[in-house]
Amino acid sequence: MKKRKEIAIYGKGGIGKSTTTSNISAALSDEGYTVMQIGCDPKSDSTNTLTNGKSIPTVLETLRNGRNVGLEDMIHEGFNGILCVEAGGPEPGVGCAGRGIITAVEFLKQKFVFEEYSPDVVLYDVLGDVVCGGFAMPIREGVASQVYTVSSADFMALYAANNLFKGIKKYSNNGGALFSGIIANSINLPIQKRILEDFSLQTKSTIAEFVPRSLTVTRSELGGKTTIESDPDSEQAGVYRKLAKHIIKNDNEYVPSPLEGDELKIWAESWSDKLLEQKETEHDLECVVPGAE
Ligand code: ADP
Ligand code: MG
Repeated sequence: MKKRKEIAIYGKGGIGKSTTTSNISAALSDEGYTVMQIGCDPKSDSTNTLTNGKSIPTVLETLRNGRNVGLEDMIHEGFNGILCVEAGGPEPGVGCAGRGIITAVEFLKQKFVFEEYSPDVVLYDVLGDVVCGGFAMPIREGVASQVYTVSSADFMALYAANNLFKGIKKYSNNGGALFSGIIANSINLPIQKRILEDFSLQTKSTIAEFVPRSLTVTRSELGGKTTIESDPDSEQAGVYRKLAKHIIKNDNEYVPSPLEGDELKIWAESWSDKLLEQKETEHDLECVVPGAE
């Protein structure tokens, strides 16, 4: 029997996890793999571009609303037969979002979701602003075997990536998931690439791929599709295909070295100084202001 590959993709909110994950799913499905994508963000929009921009019912709302619900009520086929699942969140104002992920993942496993659907690849798209409670579950309990993070060169994104590294390190002695690479997103300038390269050097981590910010992605999203589906011959689709090929082959799993205490802040300040010294173009400087798109 083929070994199933279970991968969790973390990153701060809005950084491009769902966009990147859906394009990886779409690219892998084109290669003939059976792919399941499980959205673990309470926002529940992970799989929208695989289902023509529509939202699918989430596991939690299906559990809340129905009796005798089965897997078929929660697993919705999207582009190329990709198996789309959204864990969902608690009712607004009630309960913890992280708890929702645990309930959803446990339910799917109790119902033998993988035995029923036999996916070759399972991608968990997980919000990573805080790696606590339910959000840490795919790492803590080794639900996934490999973890990637999507990060831009912005400080807050790197801060979230560094926190993820701390979470991985903490659970690594107890069967937790290990790290397999940074997916550097929205990288258009050499300086952004250099910041990411230096961050990976400092944290003893690897970079899976550099993905540019591209209007092709924006256009595809507005049409409710992945770039792989809507613009398969574009350069951007080529980047996603290369990334998907890397991920499917990559067996490198390790514990990264997060920057501890003030180290991250000191590192970031050193870049601020370097930017001043190097007198990069005005445009370059604008693009590394923390929080800027
Ligand atoms: P997350 O899932 O991390 O919250 P999304 O994948 O929803 O983030 O992305 C947030 C926004 O950024 C979306 O509108 C998406 O189209 C856009 N985006 C993400 N990556 C890119 C990219 N490489 N090029 C252009 N737009 C992007
Ligand atoms: Mg998302």
